[in-house]
Amino acid sequence: MHSTLSPEIEAFRMTVRRLAESSFRDLAVKVDNGELIPPSVRPLLAGIDAFGLPFPSHVGGGDGSFLAWAVLQEEIGRVMPVLGIYLQVNLLVAGILLESATPDQVRQWVPSLLDGSKTGFMAFTEPQTGSDISMMTTRARKVEGGWSISGRKMWISNAATASMGVVYARDPDDSLSMFLVPTDAPGFRVGPSIEIMGLRGTELNELEFDDLFVPEENLLGGKTGIKTTVLRKVMPIGKIGICAVCVGLMQSCLEEATRYARQRVQQGHPIIDFQAIHYLIAEMVAALEASRQMVYWAATCKDQGADAITELATTKLFVTNAAIRVARMAVSVHGVYGIAKGAVVERLLRDVQVFELFEGPSEVQREMVMRAVRDIA
Ligand SMILES: Cc1cc2nc3c(=O)[nH]c(=O)nc-3n(C[C@H](O)[C@H](O)[C@H](O)COP(=O)(O)OP(=O)(O)OC[C@H]3O[C@@H](n4cnc5c(N)ncnc54)[C@H](O)[C@@H]3O)c2cc1C
Repeated sequence: MHSTLSPEIEAFRMTVRRLAESSFRDLAVKVDNGELIPPSVRPLLAGIDAFGLPFPSHVGGGDGSFLAWAVLQEEIGRVMPVLGIYLQVNLLVAGILLESATPDQVRQWVPSLLDGSKTGFMAFTEPQTGSDISMMTTRARKVEGGWSISGRKMWISNAATASMGVVYARDPDDSLSMFLVPTDAPGFRVGPSIEIMGLRGTELNELEFDDLFVPEENLLGGKTGIKTTVLRKVMPIGKIGICAVCVGLMQSCLEEATRYARQRVQQGHPIIDFQAIHYLIAEMVAALEASRQMVYWAATCKDQGADAITELATTKLFVTNAAIRVARMAVSVHGVYGIAKGAVVERLLRDVQVFELFEGPSEVQREMVMRAVRDIA
């Protein structure tokens, strides 16, 4: 397909693709079979600025664009989707710190998050708190010299190996505040891990805070209450990242399906000669290319500094749904071999189910899109 991206970004795509093919294709199978993502991937990812590409170099970033980063995530997603999730948490945490931490805290943490030498986590989900963060029960009490945080978080990515994170807690005014929490703070405990059907290798844990103490300056933003302007700037990163990974996953489904359809012979013909297979593959291409353009549009909105909340909700809704359809069609092309353990599309079908559920489930994206258009005419 003709690319409308710049030659520089397309050259960068090929750099990422070469690395992903040579270093991550076999790893994707091992990690799906239960191995942990090894620390050795970090310098490889750092070598292509994967942890910090869209941030400025004066804070340790790669001086690139979100559009280039989306292409990076797409190429990682084409080979090993779980790795895209693994690396994007650091960008989210660094993004929050850049908007709300003190200059000293930025100097202490942001460069090491953006070069991947340290890991960050972000914790808002709790046993009773999903999309509706107003249900949050983790509490922050004002104490001598700082804050004492108590509560429990669930489903927290990368927390088990992180050096620090951003924790959301209910403050004495009963509003939500954000705290910078080093993982060696007294009272911080990593709880049981959570295993999921797809994106295996995602490190997900419960966290327990028992009178966890942080000093006064770790209240991010310098005063209680979450600045929604911070969240509006940072949340798009997560959505762009996972939608770009979905595009890569769809590309992989297309490649696997066409390869299989050329090889599989039935009734004396490769099945790629059958019209029913043409329909499936053409639908896959249409869903993939529409999704790809939506992701580039969303990333360009972010590069232009637009407050693109509706654009991102629309993209997340469409792309994650398209990815599920494409993965199912790829399995259909493979027949029973598509559901056999070891088939690439079997793994991708399990991976793809997860994307619709986090970074805002589809039902919530539909509500956001609806709110934006209800008075359109
Ligand atoms: C791989 C992965 C990584 C994650 N990483 C993190 C992390 O690092 N940090 C973190 O804090 N959390 C993380 N999470 C948790 C994730 O953010 C939550 O799953 C998310 O907040 C949604 O919560 P829930 O699934 O419990 O859904 P709920 O909000 O309980 O929703 C349940 C169902 O109700 C629907 N629903 C909810 N609200 C509405 C509404 N207003 N209108 C219509 N329907 C609605 C939902 O769509 C869903 O179908 C992660 C999850 C996964 C799968």
